[in-house]
Amino acid sequence: MRDLNSQSQPQSSILLEWYDQHARSLPWRISPADRAAGVWPDPYRIWLSEVMLQQTTVAAVKDYFHRFTSRWPTVADLAAAPDADVMAEWAGLGYYARARNLLKCARVVAQDYGGIFPNTYDGLIALPGIGPYTAAAISAIAFDRQATVLDGNVERVMARLYDIHVPLPTSKPQLKEKAAALTPAERPGDHAQAVMDLGATICTPRNPACGICPWRTPCAARAAGTATELPKKTPKKPKPTRIGIVYLARSAAGDWLLEQRPDKGLLGGMLGWPGSDWTDSPDSPAPAPPFEADWQLLNAEVRHTFTHFHLILRVMLAELPAEFAAEENQRVIARHDFKPTDLPTVMRKAFDLWKGC
Ligand code: SF4
Repeated sequence: MRDLNSQSQPQSSILLEWYDQHARSLPWRISPADRAAGVWPDPYRIWLSEVMLQQTTVAAVKDYFHRFTSRWPTVADLAAAPDADVMAEWAGLGYYARARNLLKCARVVAQDYGGIFPNTYDGLIALPGIGPYTAAAISAIAFDRQATVLDGNVERVMARLYDIHVPLPTSKPQLKEKAAALTPAERPGDHAQAVMDLGATICTPRNPACGICPWRTPCAARAAGTATELPKKTPKKPKPTRIGIVYLARSAAGDWLLEQRPDKGLLGGMLGWPGSDWTDSPDSPAPAPPFEADWQLLNAEVRHTFTHFHLILRVMLAELPAEFAAEENQRVIARHDFKPTDLPTVMRKAFDLWKGC
């Protein structure tokens, strides 16, 4: 181990030594020892994990990752999967546009690239659903390229390491510049993962464990006593609240009426309950039940928060007539085929309310 006290500037080599000992074991990750022995990560698994991890935690993603890779072990398998199966498997992870783009991307890679992901940032960013962050992460982690990966963990570490008090998101370019300057030519993929791990396990938001941090000596925020104040963030505007109605219709035999949502927009392409638009008007949304019936209002409401608004859904119940003729976007799901886990979370909450009645 190096003499940490000799550090005046943060050095990647010190962090990599720490990573060699303390890297998290993740289902998509190649350990530093295996990587040193010449094992390369599977770009499909790195891509899948990065898409799943956007806006979500490792803990929330692990089971989804295992299910996806067991069911579709290669990008060609995923590309050949029916849309409905992939959307159902994704249900609960949220941000459903990502699942639709995931499929689009898999099909482009399978059809246009012979099932092999491009190995450059420029090639990756040209694919559907891959933005600058994901392209950088895949370039670094899967192909060991010197790309700068800036996620929330890395932003926090950089803001503290250099005691940067400019609030996010204004500080992003500055934080990226710092992260880029630290990225080494040797082992850039391990370096990127090491900074992420440091942020996830040591330089945590509330209680950074500075005493055991490999960058404790050069860390400016530690010296200034400002670590827990950083990174500063521009206060967010309060989210508006929208309201809507969902209609749960169940036949005497226990079959359910569901509707496929339009491809564009929130929860696009997912199955859900028929319902009204979601409106932020203080007046009630216009009711639009899927059929005439004696609809009963459930004595509880669904509350759910999306990225940009809170949603309150009233839940109406009625019996689905035996002779009900479903429209093109509607499906009557037989009792034994109905799986609440196939529904997006907000729709599952309505089901859970019904079940709890
Ligand atoms: S010394 Fe503390 S604040 Fe600085 S990088 Fe390490 S854990 Fe974060």
